[in-house]
Amino acid sequence: MTESTVRIGLVLPDVMGTYGDGGNALVLRQRLRLRGYDAEVVEITLADPVPDSLDIYTLGGAEDSAQRLATRHLQRYPGLQQAAANGTPVLAICAAIQVLGQWYETSSGERVDGVGMIDVTTSPQPKRAIGEVTTAPLLSGLSAALTGFENHRGGTKLGGDATGLAKVTRGVGNGVGDGLEGVVQGSVIGTYMHGPALARNPELADLLLMRALGVTELPPLPMPEVEQLRRERLRA
Ligand code: GLN
Repeated sequence: MTESTVRIGLVLPDVMGTYGDGGNALVLRQRLRLRGYDAEVVEITLADPVPDSLDIYTLGGAEDSAQRLATRHLQRYPGLQQAAANGTPVLAICAAIQVLGQWYETSSGERVDGVGMIDVTTSPQPKRAIGEVTTAPLLSGLSAALTGFENHRGGTKLGGDATGLAKVTRGVGNGVGDGLEGVVQGSVIGTYMHGPALARNPELADLLLMRALGVTELPPLPMPEVEQLRRERLRA
């Protein structure tokens, strides 16, 4: 590792990482390395305090009991909150949206205080949202449709400080009737898309990387396999 190594925090992969969400960190690392940057993934487990000094963070989805463990750990070691307050990009997948929010209710109806980084609340919905999800981005800097796979019972309501990442064109998304998918607040971007989301949505990966690097442009990385996957998913 050198001083210029870009450090990607994979937060609590031991409890949060449904459907290979940890792959988002690998996508970020690979897109950096292919462009000549030194990059490494730093895994932060339940045995570690959460550092505030990394360049970008990602958190995956989880089932209810695992997400409670993660919530407690992030409350105890507030490095992620400090990093986000300093503008460091954070990508939160599925349960991670719920954990970083104000509170969430588990599927058994128990209300758990979240980390409070984003202005969202989550309650279980009558029907589990499961399947492909496709959206049209609302966040400036993104133009391509976002695609992923969702599997959640929680429906997430955005408060006044949060905005939607995208509008749902297929699937459920946040699931509270506002037609929105995901959340954006400050440097935090959340989405219900597993997949892993960044393998399927390179534009989102590069937006996060540009923010992490403090640049406004990155050289293009043509990847026919990714384009093929996107075409298949958008057609399916
Ligand atoms: N337990 C949460 C829910 O069902 C999140 C699930 C997930 O991350 N896949 O809403």
